[in-house]
Amino acid sequence: MEFRIGQGYDVHALKYGLPMWLGGICIPDAPAGFVAHSDGDVALHALCDALLGALALGDIGKHFPDTSDEWKGADSKNLLAAVMEMVSSRGWKVANTDITIALQAPKIGMFTDRMRGIIAGILGISPDRVSVKATTTEKLGFTGRGEGCQVWAVVLLCKD
Ligand code: MG
Repeated sequence: MEFRIGQGYDVHALKYGLPMWLGGICIPDAPAGFVAHSDGDVALHALCDALLGALALGDIGKHFPDTSDEWKGADSKNLLAAVMEMVSSRGWKVANTDITIALQAPKIGMFTDRMRGIIAGILGISPDRVSVKATTTEKLGFTGRGEGCQVWAVVLLCKD
């Protein structure tokens, strides 16, 4: 068995009045959403970068440039599916992933199980291999001031 580990990090700014796409779902009644070329799903972007990083395939900006009309307003679930295709076409499977979302508000803890299910479906694994954790930054820094969201993702790939 061969293994590869990857990590990803992403940040997006919050803007009042935009829909908040996070972990593959639209957070109900969120007053603000993420400024981005795509739907701004910062959690799925960090996960894409972790998967690409595990196989040294560059980063999300290289594969889905924010200057390209093709990815304007893109559903990040489609970006994640495209990255997963690169992973599986090389014979790799996801052993597990662990994602930490830092967001001051709204509280998203009640949505993390839904996110796990959606992400697991795209990665082709069971939800018990997908961890999504939510935290605040105790009102510190840009995240704490409600200016943006940060996400860290790690992933372990395996190949027989
Ligand atoms: Mg991004």
